[in-house]
Amino acid sequence: MASQLRVGSSVVNPKTGATVHWRPIEPVADEYETAYALGWSVLGVIGNVAHLKKTGGHTPWSTEWGAKPGWVYAIDIDVPASAAAKFEAWLLGRLRSGFYPWVAYLNILNRHWERSATKTSGNKTVSFAYSVYSGDHHLHLSGRGGYETTNSSILRDWADFQKPKPAPKPVEVDMDAADKQTLAAIRSDVADICWALGTRPGQTPEQVRDQQQSTAVAGLVSAVTALNLAVARIEAKLDAAKPAG
Ligand SMILES: [Zn+2]
Repeated sequence: MASQLRVGSSVVNPKTGATVHWRPIEPVADEYETAYALGWSVLGVIGNVAHLKKTGGHTPWSTEWGAKPGWVYAIDIDVPASAAAKFEAWLLGRLRSGFYPWVAYLNILNRHWERSATKTSGNKTVSFAYSVYSGDHHLHLSGRGGYETTNSSILRDWADFQKPKPAPKPVEVDMDAADKQTLAAIRSDVADICWALGTRPGQTPEQVRDQQQSTAVAGLVSAVTALNLAVARIEAKLDAAKPAG
């Protein structure tokens, strides 16, 4: 039960024999619940005996990254193999851009990426800049002290990122009778100009009736021809966009 995870439980410290109450930090609980919602396996939050003999993020006595007693800062998630490499690249991009400040480090695909692994170029410093070897092939997320009650949306954001983006809506041709009338008026104006020039669209200056060979007439004829073709194209589009009848 996902909600029970937030309440936590008790665990015996194998070194001291003391019973210690623990609960996961909020970001870990958030990712736990989303993993289940996505159908991804959660491999663990509180550690097994091997973990509990040490002082890592799967224990409530972690000494990593300013951890506070009683909190469990780590979660292991089985990212589907087909998504792991893409997920790693996407998450690193998000972390380097400043998202998910609660994350201290992550392991995935045998790589360990830590917030303190920085690279500076110019006046810009990037965290999670390089990796070292890790024994974890699955995703291990570790939080840092001070982020016990913040929220996290890593897996939720990944799922949104994976959703196919809706294709942009095609521009709708919305021409009504008024537009048709405008086009008809343009056609009529073009015809008047052609009449005045003594030619018709498509005729070359050599074909002009009164044999005027001036550059001005040639330019006008070519402009009118282009305009006429544009009107014809718009009319064809308009006819295609309107269902017959
Ligand atoms: Zn782990």
